[in-house]
Amino acid sequence: MTYVVVENCIKCKYMDCVEVCPVDCFYEGDNMLVIHPDECIDCGVCEPECPAEAIKPDTESGLDKWLKLNAEYAKTWPNITIKREPPADAKEHDGEAGKLDKYFSPEPGEGD
Ligand code: SF4
Ligand code: SF4
Repeated sequence: MTYVVVENCIKCKYMDCVEVCPVDCFYEGDNMLVIHPDECIDCGVCEPECPAEAIKPDTESGLDKWLKLNAEYAKTWPNITIKREPPADAKEHDGEAGKLDKYFSPEPGEGD
């Protein structure tokens, strides 16, 4: 089992999650983060920290697509453990539908 970052992180990217993870398994893309499924120890402390409710346990149904996306991009995006300022328009995109199709970027973020 692992925890998974899902669609509502895209363009919100608040980064509250990275500071609480005991094993530093968040990786940063251009406009979202992912969790490395082989590094996550399933402690669950990040889930309630996410203001966008964008972290879910993979035991929830319907998350296969997101599990694959987290696993794929955790291999190439840089590790992030320190929170930075979220995007200025993060609140405007919180809860918006269809963010994967509209905005997903495969480009890496800055990392630490
Ligand atoms: S706190 Fe939530 S919205 Fe922010 S980066 Fe982490 S998963 Fe994404
Ligand atoms: S569940 Fe725990 S180990 Fe996994 S990403 Fe969240 S804080 Fe890190």
